[in-house]
Amino acid sequence: MIDILAIAAHRDDVEQTCGGTLLNAAERGQKTAILDLTRGEMGTRGTAEDRAREAAEAAKLLKVSWRGALDIPDTRVENSYENRLKIARVIRMLRPRVIILPYWEARHPDHAKASPLGYEACFVAGLSKLDLSPVAPDSLSITVSANDQRPTTNDPFRPFKILYASLYAEVRPTFVVDITEQFETRLKSLLAYKSQYAQQQTGGELFVPEQEIRTRLETMARFYGLLAGVEFAEPFVQKEVGLVKDLTAIPVQSI
Ligand SMILES: [Zn+2]
Repeated sequence: MIDILAIAAHRDDVEQTCGGTLLNAAERGQKTAILDLTRGEMGTRGTAEDRAREAAEAAKLLKVSWRGALDIPDTRVENSYENRLKIARVIRMLRPRVIILPYWEARHPDHAKASPLGYEACFVAGLSKLDLSPVAPDSLSITVSANDQRPTTNDPFRPFKILYASLYAEVRPTFVVDITEQFETRLKSLLAYKSQYAQQQTGGELFVPEQEIRTRLETMARFYGLLAGVEFAEPFVQKEVGLVKDLTAIPVQSI
């Protein structure tokens, strides 16, 4: 059983938007997982195999218990029934309490489409009359799997909570997660994608150098941290209203 599953279009998306939050959760004893929808075969730099190796390395840094990539074609993430079933199979297998999806508006069409696709997959996974075959081995490339994460059941299951990682969206977050302690490791997890981010020639005009990535990530994390009075944070949107038991325990100072 997994506590938090982050779903994203590409290997390295989670590292950019909610990697610190996953590491934070793992460090407090929760089990986390990442499902990448594509394998990166259309990337300008490196191959899908390079990216699988790098994704495993990044997952290790983020202390993730399970990481897999579906076989949805890179740059062609569609909200199709077939793709919903592929994700639903993984949701039934991992049975996460919380799912993190990309925010539904984004520059990259794969990111934007992954959001409703993931939401609808959560819905489909819970349909009691939908008899899904187990995950076909070829359709899922598993790069990290802790010993206790073997698939146990294919029974209907719906996650309790769906959150949206909104780092790159121009939207006010519902809440932020303090990742001050996790920031450096999260940065390392992104730089683990050496085929993408190491200083090199191929596609040089398309890619920013390492120092620029550090500055960019730090600026974003600092901005969201400032909103809540901590050093570094990652932002999230939830569609439901917040529920409070004790007014005196609400964090973030007003004045
Ligand atoms: Zn991406």
